[in-house]
Amino acid sequence: MSTGTRTDAIVVGAGCGGLVAAWQLAQSGCDVTLLDAWKWPGGLLAGAELGGLRVDVGAEGYSVRGGEVERLLHELGAAELIATPIPAGRLAADVDRGAPDPEAAGVRDACRPRRRGRPGGGGEGATRCAVGGVAGRGGPAGYGRRVLDDLVSPAGRRGLFDRPAPGALAELAPELAARVASGLSLREAVAASLRTSPPGGAVHGIRGGMNALVELLVSSARAASGAFELSCGEPVTGLQRESGRWRVTTSKRTLSAPIVVLALPLDAAVRLLGAPSLPQTTRIEVITLVLDAPGLDGDEPRGTGVLVGAEVPGVTAKALTHSSAKWAWLREQAQGRDYVRLSYGRRGQAPATAGLDEAELRRLVRPDAAALLGRPVPEPVAVRRTAWWILPLERPGWPAQSSG
Ligand SMILES: Cc1cc2nc3c(=O)[nH]c(=O)nc-3n(C[C@H](O)[C@H](O)[C@H](O)COP(=O)(O)OP(=O)(O)OC[C@H]3O[C@@H](n4cnc5c(N)ncnc54)[C@H](O)[C@@H]3O)c2cc1C
Repeated sequence: MSTGTRTDAIVVGAGCGGLVAAWQLAQSGCDVTLLDAWKWPGGLLAGAELGGLRVDVGAEGYSVRGGEVERLLHELGAAELIATPIPAGRLAADVDRGAPDPEAAGVRDACRPRRRGRPGGGGEGATRCAVGGVAGRGGPAGYGRRVLDDLVSPAGRRGLFDRPAPGALAELAPELAARVASGLSLREAVAASLRTSPPGGAVHGIRGGMNALVELLVSSARAASGAFELSCGEPVTGLQRESGRWRVTTSKRTLSAPIVVLALPLDAAVRLLGAPSLPQTTRIEVITLVLDAPGLDGDEPRGTGVLVGAEVPGVTAKALTHSSAKWAWLREQAQGRDYVRLSYGRRGQAPATAGLDEAELRRLVRPDAAALLGRPVPEPVAVRRTAWWILPLERPGWPAQSSG
């Protein structure tokens, strides 16, 4: 049996994982073939033209913890592209479970920093307060279920995490856990963390969007290896070990190499390896709106995003990011327009946006945006829907019992 076209390394999947692997293999002198099932590379580093600009419709920032992405950008000679978010903070809605009412108090008040004596609440660093709440469940600060339900769960559900287990604090927020262990109350520990790590400090982005990383990595891999091939629209359908090499079958050909990197979503990798089945993927949808809404940022900044609890009446979205209020490069290029992203789809439920035509989509999304931004929202200049399928994350500390 033919072992197919021979090369040094085959990378399956051209998302950020596969692109980095291909670039590193190319740098080490390998001939590399990078294959992707989709029409173009990038996976979740996806961009789209909207309102005359190219914007992210998948990942839109990266965690600075660990420093890998910043190191990568330095190695790619692109450190000048690093963007820090405008430090307006992230909000959590709706801790009062009150009906969001853009005309009156509603979500706007729920998103304001809480009055003294109440844990967590909205305002700066709410997500970190939320994480802190994990310790409170029977923990030293005694914050209890309300913080877990109102803050941790909205934060977790955004990424389809499950409810975190008691004791998960050390894994989720080691610095906070160390402060609590040193004798601070949870409130004091959160306050200390916010002082040393202001809003916007934990996540950075890339000027032009995270999708700009795709072309950077592809061109760097090409430059590093005389024999770098990127082939899109070519799904890998089979993988076999044969005489010390890997035989990779695609929709178009057979290839063989001593090195194979699978940089695939877990369910695709498991299918290829013939391993047992996984939990069902969940469809989520990201709806990006371009708004001509002078004054939306206005005199009362609302923060850069809102996480929505599952029980908030009258709002279907699970999260909103005001992208042009978050990223200065986008604000500059948008020339007065606003870019807003809403996400839909909670674990185990089809997103409410699925199957809607554009008119129906606008009718659903616009009131959600208005409620969460606390301002009337005009008819969007442009709307774009992007669907993703993701697996629920199962990790120690995030056990599978979910109320979401
Ligand atoms: C809506 C959304 C927003 C996110 N935002 C952020 C964020 O802001 N910051 C952050 O850090 N993380 C974010 N994440 C998570 C992050 O984007 C992903 O963890 C990361 O991009 C995954 O990269 P990857 O290369 O592992 O996989 P992917 O990007 O999924 O790439 C896998 C590739 O494999 C290809 N493929 C699949 N099957 C085959 C096959 N049989 N043969 C060949 N190719 C195949 C796919 O087409 C795809 O291109 C977000 C996730 C989602 C869903």
